Amino acid sequence: METRNLIAGVWCEADDGSTFDVHDPATDDLLAAVPKVGETEVVRALDAAEAVRADWESTPIPERTTILRRIADMLVAATDELATIIVRENGKPMREARAEVAYAASFFPAAADAADRLRDEAVEVLGKCVTVRHRPVGVSAAITPWNFPLAMLAKKTAPALAAGCPQVVKPAEQTPLSAIACARIAVEAGVPAGVLSVVTGDPPAIGDAMLRHPRLRKLSFTGSTEVGRLLMRGAADRLVRLSLELGGHAPILVFDDADLDAAVRIAVAAKFRNGGQTCVCPNRFLVARGIHDAFVDRLATTVSELRSGRGQDPDVDLGPLIDDQAMRKVAEHIDDAVSMGASIVTGGGRRRIAGCVDRFPEPTVLTGCGPGMRCWTEETFGPVCPVRAFDDEAEAIALANDTEYGLASYAITNDPGRFERLASRLDSGIIGINDPVPAIAAVPFGGLKQSGIGREGGRWGLEAYLEPVTVSRVGSGRGG
Ligand code: NAP
Repeated sequence: METRNLIAGVWCEADDGSTFDVHDPATDDLLAAVPKVGETEVVRALDAAEAVRADWESTPIPERTTILRRIADMLVAATDELATIIVRENGKPMREARAEVAYAASFFPAAADAADRLRDEAVEVLGKCVTVRHRPVGVSAAITPWNFPLAMLAKKTAPALAAGCPQVVKPAEQTPLSAIACARIAVEAGVPAGVLSVVTGDPPAIGDAMLRHPRLRKLSFTGSTEVGRLLMRGAADRLVRLSLELGGHAPILVFDDADLDAAVRIAVAAKFRNGGQTCVCPNRFLVARGIHDAFVDRLATTVSELRSGRGQDPDVDLGPLIDDQAMRKVAEHIDDAVSMGASIVTGGGRRRIAGCVDRFPEPTVLTGCGPGMRCWTEETFGPVCPVRAFDDEAEAIALANDTEYGLASYAITNDPGRFERLASRLDSGIIGINDPVPAIAAVPFGGLKQSGIGREGGRWGLEAYLEPVTVSRVGSGRGG
């Protein structure tokens, strides 16, 4: 397994030889020591990106998109290897890791399709010839989180390369190996030296070096709202373009016209992916009062039957949380809710898994939750379902929108009239109606309010790496 950084087309260690360790979150077993690079290596990667920028920009789009489609094919062909890396460094169950590889791969053809469709646009103006062209924004950087170590990188790298922008990627410290493996495949697929670099190390040092580099034009970040704000401040001095995919606090609204079994199935599928450690997983369960008790009963039974264990073990539904801090946060959110009057219907404790460390919280259902509780305002990032009853649709929508976040919302209903009302009134960038997985590579993914700025996916993701340039010409070009 490759563990080095890819900088300026060369696989290398940190200049001073320093490293940091990557551990399996289920066992704390050491997986690898990866380079801990600093400003010098980041500058070298960005200098190399600038050196090859003009060549990559002028590479015809069909040549670039052929490489992207090859990367997708190679990622899919390497599913066993990549899924194993994801499971080891992130902990998620193998079937979710395999699904992540497929999801990651799908961003490459989606970006390639969008680039292939790119055309100059003519705008009719009397007496002038006006066209809008799309120019690559230039050298880009990406900073990604640990919860989807391969897919978050693919979401950024695929449109960057399709648009003609070289990119330097910094993956999360806890999960750098998936990104390194992806870079190796990109090189094998024909991405030229310097066009894609991967650097691992101290986050503030790398982030600062990126934002200070005179040739960096664009930074795409996925992670917490707190770090997103910090990077936005850092980007202000040089007006670096930003895409920010930040935190979420998704509501899921369960209406009394829903089929209860289907409702529980959809809610559990949306909530428990990656053990509840996703930015789009429901954090607030709003349930029509008439079906509240029946829904909670079935939800509690279903979640208590979810099996915890190491991601590579067969039939596991829930892997470990990523680290001890994540465990503490889950426990604190449960304690806080209970201290404010919530009741634990199931869970609330920890599961002991043979041969593993203590990072397996019980799937938990809490009732009587609401505003003022931490679980109702902050991302828990764990397998906790806080439930509250509502009386009518207007109250449900008001409660759903009562958050500073606006990434995803879900609703379970069979009333077609309600589909339309929810689609226009829920304040979030992604709305899943009877759909636990509304995010696919061809459509925009991103948030309103404090959940971020910009979109990834499809042509919207590509446009994030393009600058529209207006060319307005008067006269025939023959001196008139
Ligand atoms: P995080 O702490 O913000 O870290 C995200 C990335 O930023 C990591 O690579 C991290 O590096 C790096 N980083 C941290 N501090 C930095 C700094 N001062 N300068 C530059 N980079 C810095 O978030 P996380 O805990 O990894 O991920 C969970 C969060 O991501 C949640 O809030 C979740 O909702 C959000 N998320 C959002 C989306 C979306 O599409 N909207 C998708 C997935 C996750 P290290 O890991 O090396 O510390």
